[in-house]
Amino acid sequence: MSTASLPVRPALAPNRCLTDSHGRVIHDLRVSITDRCNYKCVYCRSGEGDERYSELSIAEYLRLIGLFVSLGITKVRLTGGEPLLRRGLIEMVQELSRMRTLDGSPLDLAITTNGHLLPSLAAPLKAAGLHRVTVSMDAVEAEVFEKITRVPGSYKTVLAGVRAAREAGLTPIKINCVLLRGFNDHQIEGFARFAREENVVVRFIEFMPLEEGRLWSPEIVVPLTEVVERISKVLPLVALPAHDAGETARRYTFADGIGEIGVIAPVSQAFCGACSRVRLTSDGKIRTCLFSQMDHDLYRRLRSFSGANEPRDRDELEAEDEELRNYIWQTIQGKEARHHIGEPGFLKPSRSMVHIGG
Ligand code: SAM
Repeated sequence: MSTASLPVRPALAPNRCLTDSHGRVIHDLRVSITDRCNYKCVYCRSGEGDERYSELSIAEYLRLIGLFVSLGITKVRLTGGEPLLRRGLIEMVQELSRMRTLDGSPLDLAITTNGHLLPSLAAPLKAAGLHRVTVSMDAVEAEVFEKITRVPGSYKTVLAGVRAAREAGLTPIKINCVLLRGFNDHQIEGFARFAREENVVVRFIEFMPLEEGRLWSPEIVVPLTEVVERISKVLPLVALPAHDAGETARRYTFADGIGEIGVIAPVSQAFCGACSRVRLTSDGKIRTCLFSQMDHDLYRRLRSFSGANEPRDRDELEAEDEELRNYIWQTIQGKEARHHIGEPGFLKPSRSMVHIGG
């Protein structure tokens, strides 16, 4: 993208919001802090190779996140790869909990994790200032779970992690389950019971063509309507109102009001028109859509300032930051209107989910 042809960032947007060229307010930043992962989920990773992209230092992530926040981001979610593998995570959360949004509020701070390291890290993360965790679980039967993660003993460890997170107060705990027909769709009813027994919000997510291999097909996607129908047969569901207009999940409770499930349907009922997200990859590239064909190299710009490793005075730093803010703002103006999953000519994105940050 040539930045020369792009509009210039207004000095201060009237509503102090970061808005894209389609009028969507962008307030949600997802940051991958490593693309390493200790699981090899069969639908996500090929099982060969590991990390592919470099990592920035924690200080560099913090500087870049600070720039996004100064433009209007209010919610930061750390992800990966597996973010709990990253050294310096606790200190990073401490620093993030001190950041303030444009209206002076603390950031809404969350982590998406496979939960494997939560038994030991839940309490320190909460003490550092983390608000909530989302744990990815694709089965509630140990054997099925371990076939998917390809890690023996993983179910027991993740269940202990979920319970440790609850005890630490990282609530409400959300459990994200990606459904693939023929892999784990027989777990749907068990997950509904799990939501009630473990006091967690279980969210089913339609599988998207973001895997390393070539698994995706329209037939493998389990659509929202099917999930709701199947659960309703064993435990009748009642629809809940959305928390806000940009909410991606359709929410339901059960007839007795105990427990909550959600269904996120990016394939069968795309919600791009309400998308409020932007992503930063582990190697410092901006991605304006999960399905982008290109990255925008924010980190290269940061490194291009002469004497990037030398101490600089405040004016020099502020001038650099202003240049980076302009780059972020201009990049967000080019955010895609929508994805094209399932349409003729659909192109897989230039990176898979584990290397973007889900
Ligand atoms: N390791 C962390 C975890 O397991 O939550 C964070 C990274 S992981 C890539 C983030 C989420 O993306 C997980 O919930 C995973 O199930 C989901 N995911 C991976 N590939 C996906 C796909 N093709 N479609 C939908 N979700 C996917």
